[in-house]
Parts: sequence; structure tokens; C-alpha cells
Amino acid sequence: MFAVGHMALAYLLGKPVAKLLKVNLNVPLLLVLSLIPDVDLLFGGFISHRGPTHSIVTAVLVFVPFFVVYRKKAIPYFLGLVSHAAVADFLVGGDLQLFWPLTNADFGLHELGSYYIAINSPVNVALELSLFVVATLVMFKAGDLRGFFQNKKSNLILVVPIATVLLPSVVGYPLAVPVLLVLPHLFYLVLFGVSVLVVFFGFFKKKKDR
Ligand SMILES: [Zn+2]
Repeated sequence: MFAVGHMALAYLLGKPVAKLLKVNLNVPLLLVLSLIPDVDLLFGGFISHRGPTHSIVTAVLVFVPFFVVYRKKAIPYFLGLVSHAAVADFLVGGDLQLFWPLTNADFGLHELGSYYIAINSPVNVALELSLFVVATLVMFKAGDLRGFFQNKKSNLILVVPIATVLLPSVVGYPLAVPVLLVLPHLFYLVLFGVSVLVVFFGFFKKKKDR
């Protein structure tokens, strides 16, 4: 999936679980975690795409200290991270080293002998658009969109997806994402951009006020 699908899916999984466990959820952090496995795209020469960073084993190992310290509070974030490979990329594209280093075998819906959904296929575009619409509606209804406009230092983490995924996806020719997914990517780009600016302006205002 593209960034939009990963973030929407992580939210739609993490949000209800956080509610069920009665824990506060840092939505920007959850969304950023859902994109982390694709750091392998940035280090293309050293590490294979959909390899170790897409492994459930890696995710569990990385999260052990967070489970020890934060206990059930870490569960929604773990799901956000794991949903990237175990759900989204599993359905779309496949070809994942899901259990690396236990096995180097590739996994995915396709590898299990089922239908192959290519990332640029209409099926995936429709799937990501639907996830985006539902996630945005739930975010709005739950009041989670408001958090992006508040002056919270932790929102600065949104610089990471802006610089690494969202900007590169929507600028340049040919487009990195299918036309129908440009608008949802722009939505997140503007939302995250505004969020970062709110913190920046808050910082300068505080300096001036002193
Ligand atoms: Zn991926």
C-alpha cells in the first residue's frame, strides 16, 4: 500500500484498541509508526525492500522494551507498526519476509495461492481510498483531527513523513502515486504541514513574549 493506506489502516486498528484498553493515543505517533517499515526504501543498497523491516519478529523485538515500560499503552502502537506488513502489504503485493530471521521465505496473500493485488491496481486504489475516507471520518468524529492543530511538541515527529514520503509522493513527474490517491496524500501533507507550523509559530511567539 501507499502511505495513505498504511496510515488509515493503522488508525482504524489502533484507535478502537486504544479505546477498548482505555489508554490515551498519540495519533501522529501511531501514523508515523505505520510508515516505518518502508525505511528500507531509503536504504535500498543495504537492505532488501519488504525484508527485515517488514518482519513481525523484528517488530516484536523492537517493542519488547516498550511493552516492559508502557505495558498495555504500547499495544495500539505495536498494531500500527505491524499492520503495515502483516495486513496492508500482505494483501497488496506480498513478497514479504514476514518471519525474518526465522525464515527468509516470502509471504503474502499471493504466495498463499490467492489473488494477486498489485499496488497500482484499481483494487488497491479503491481499497486505499475507502480506508482513507473511513479513517478521516472517524478521526473527525472522535476529535482526533483537532490534535493536529494544537501546539504539541510531539507533533514535530510529522516532519519525518512529510520529508520522506508525502512530499516525494505528490511532487515530480511522473507521479509516485496513482492519480486518485494524490488528493488523500495532499490531505495528509497539508494536515501534517499545518501541524508542524503551529508548533513552530508557538515556539517563536513564546520567544517574543519573553
Ligand atoms: Zn512496506
